[in-house]
Amino acid sequence: MSSPEFSEWIESDLRQIRDAALFRSRRTFRPLPGGRCVLDGQTLINLSSNDYLDLAHDQRLISAATAALAEMGVGARASALVSGRTEWHTKLETQLAQFEGTEAAILFPSGYAANLGVVSALASEQDTVFCDRLNHASLIDGCRLSGARLRVFRHDSLGKLKRELEKVTGEGKKIIVTDSVFSMDGSLAPLVSLCDLAEEFQAILMIDEAHATGIWGATGRGLAEELGVAHRVMVRIGTLSKAVGTLGGFVAGSSAMIDWLWNRVRTQIYSTALPPAICAAACQSLEIIQAEQERRCILFERAEFLRNELQQRTNVTIPSSAGPIIPIILQDPDITMNIAAELQEAGFLVGAIRPPTVPEGTSRLRISLTCAHQQDDLERFLKALDRSLARNVESR
Ligand SMILES: *Cc1c(COP(=O)(O)O)cnc(C)c1O
Repeated sequence: MSSPEFSEWIESDLRQIRDAALFRSRRTFRPLPGGRCVLDGQTLINLSSNDYLDLAHDQRLISAATAALAEMGVGARASALVSGRTEWHTKLETQLAQFEGTEAAILFPSGYAANLGVVSALASEQDTVFCDRLNHASLIDGCRLSGARLRVFRHDSLGKLKRELEKVTGEGKKIIVTDSVFSMDGSLAPLVSLCDLAEEFQAILMIDEAHATGIWGATGRGLAEELGVAHRVMVRIGTLSKAVGTLGGFVAGSSAMIDWLWNRVRTQIYSTALPPAICAAACQSLEIIQAEQERRCILFERAEFLRNELQQRTNVTIPSSAGPIIPIILQDPDITMNIAAELQEAGFLVGAIRPPTVPEGTSRLRISLTCAHQQDDLERFLKALDRSLARNVESR
């Protein structure tokens, strides 16, 4: 392909993206404390943040990070395996294992890197991976990279998964991979049934607790803890970039499994370790999560209020679930973008999610709440939403 042909190819693909109303533009945003942000000079209530426990701006995390920055500088300088692993990395891994109630834990540069690396290390050509249709892109990419046979199932009807598990015979491993809380739907994986199936068919169950770490379960370990199956899930992945308010992915499990991951997962071996200051902040954050359980209580109360209110609206679909992720399904991508723009004018930043992030015909606004949002913020949001819905959506 010549240089002009290459430019033409880029232009033509961009046209396709724009024609499908799927073009994503870049915006510069400044986070503020209290569930707020500034966008294009306007202060907004931020309903698109994954900082569920309002910890990213917490002064104690900032102090911990600042002290570590002064001590160790900014970058880690090398991969963890070579020389990038500082005492903050060790401390955080120890603390994660204690938080998760496991023997050990291992850090990754991000949740994406953890998922991509762990799935592709665990699965190979002779194996079969059973992947939920709504799984996060990082898990799907891991499945593809592994070269394993891929079978897709839906968590709202496990019949297909069972039939597919029955069909697979022979030597290869069977690996069931799922989000625990689905990031775009807020729906919950049926972990008890998945554990039953995994045990019946001797499959490895791997779950991604990205949206559950810190907020679900009696001590914040995640949905597996909430549903009483943490000890039955073989591979538990989490992220530090959401409720923990920092950055990084992790796996918690037995010492042997963690040693194996340390030696086998390429996204950990070939990527620079997390900045030490981030690890120091995450250590502080885990302590706060354990000490201040009320943050989770407030979060779930606010979410229940908003979900109930929204479910009374007749012109939108709100899937029933619990927790801080609340999708408002509008189907059409243009209408979704219009309403998001109008809400922004009214002072609310809401994620507008379109294909390919979600299936065709299910474009949506995705609300994610934090414990910093006040009741009054939510009531004003509902009023603004109602006005915008009246302009853009016919009653069904
Ligand atoms: C956000 C997310 C990830 C990626 O985590 P990062 O730390 O942001 O890379 C992985 N899985 C799920 C389900 C997520 O929502």
